[in-house]
Amino acid sequence: MKHSCQETESLISGYLDRELTQSDRQRVDLILEDCDRCAASLKQLKKLRESVSTLAFDQLTKTEKDNMTKKAKTGLGANLGQLLAIAGLILVYGIGSFWLSWELITDAKFVETGDADDKVPLFIRFGIPTLIGGVGILFFTVLFQRLKTARIDKYRDVQI
Ligand SMILES: [Zn+2]
Repeated sequence: MKHSCQETESLISGYLDRELTQSDRQRVDLILEDCDRCAASLKQLKKLRESVSTLAFDQLTKTEKDNMTKKAKTGLGANLGQLLAIAGLILVYGIGSFWLSWELITDAKFVETGDADDKVPLFIRFGIPTLIGGVGILFFTVLFQRLKTARIDKYRDVQI
């Protein structure tokens, strides 16, 4: 088929992308059948694209693998440590302060001994538990904010 090889070459990219109109496509098909030069440039372009996409894919999987290894190495230990630390804090701080608050609010010692000297002043009975509650809420708010920030930092790492 009579054609300009140079012009066809510019069509080949669209041919590979399946972007040509049906008539253009048919024309290129006919050209490729009888022009070695155009057939060769199709082959070459195809090969080039394959190697580019393979390279990109390899790179992607490599990055992915690196991230996974990094996550597995630093993530597991850090997450376990965080989990244990939080669990411990909740146990010690939570139960300890709950117990103390309970003792204060119910005025347990005074109830037990009936001694006026053991009577806890009202402002302490309700002040301390309120203080403990406030500090507790503050503490956990800050803690969870930190954890959130840490997660975002990790995500930023992955992106770089
Ligand atoms: Zn040609």
